[in-house]
Amino acid sequence: MVIATGAVTNLFGNSEIEKHAFGLKTVGEFLDLRNHIFTDFEKALQTVNYDDRQALIDIVIVGGGPTGVEMAGALAEMRKYIIPKDYRELNHQEVDIYLIQGGGNLLQGMDDSLGDAFVEYLRKMDVKVLLNARVDQIPEDHVVTADGQKIVAGKVVWTVGVTCEIAEGFEREKFYGRGNRLRVNAFNQLTEDNFIFALGDAAMMESENMQYGHPQVTQPAIQQAKNLARNLRKSQGD
Ligand SMILES: Cc1cc2nc3c(=O)[nH]c(=O)nc-3n(C[C@H](O)[C@H](O)[C@H](O)COP(=O)(O)OP(=O)(O)OC[C@H]3O[C@@H](n4cnc5c(N)ncnc54)[C@H](O)[C@@H]3O)c2cc1C
Repeated sequence: MVIATGAVTNLFGNSEIEKHAFGLKTVGEFLDLRNHIFTDFEKALQTVNYDDRQALIDIVIVGGGPTGVEMAGALAEMRKYIIPKDYRELNHQEVDIYLIQGGGNLLQGMDDSLGDAFVEYLRKMDVKVLLNARVDQIPEDHVVTADGQKIVAGKVVWTVGVTCEIAEGFEREKFYGRGNRLRVNAFNQLTEDNFIFALGDAAMMESENMQYGHPQVTQPAIQQAKNLARNLRKSQGD
């Protein structure tokens, strides 16, 4: 058995996030967000009150990792190039895009200079980048940061990280490591005495260089899958 179930959005057990924020893990979530953005722009065209209009058009992204940064840049480009053409009656400068990051820099875990460069780049694109700001409440149409800042926005995008689902029958203490990833040996095997394997985002192959396993990106998943297929064939004597 090969477990390759990937990861899921980490909601930190907070039901407000699940109810009021958009995740960015599945194609369905992306399409849902896109539909809400355009539906709200349509509504904004008929909304006279300034505050009501802001709630429809402003977007808050929580989490300044690769997904949040990419999303903020894409939305800033949409504001610059798409809105003036497709929503001419809407003042595109009224659309505020916030990127809220709990840590002191964007893209943590990568070189600091990269985070600095992206803060500068996104601010030039008029994205409101808030650092050291931890979102701890997401009521229906706004977010509240730990230091009490309230930001009104009908759409909150949650890109704070991923976790893995615990599979029934595998004890947490014995089989799982950081991020609920299944601990595997160099052969992607859960334990040496069975034929259960895990790979990709769901697996944590600890090594000297990678204390917490490989990064949860595509290449480790593809390479582990190919390597495991080769090993399984070899174990059958091929
Ligand atoms: C927004 C976003 C942007 C990303 N950008 C990049 C990027 O630019 N470059 C990059 O290298 N990586 C990127 N990644 C990471 C990359 O998508 C993952 O690392 C990669 O998809 C992991 O592959 P996987 O096969 O382990 O898991 P997945 O691709 O997640 O596949 C797991 C599959 O298992 C299915 N599944 C889950 N549970 C069950 C079950 N119980 N039964 C049956 N099926 C189940 C899931 O529905 C899913 O289809 C990004 C991820 C996200 C969310």
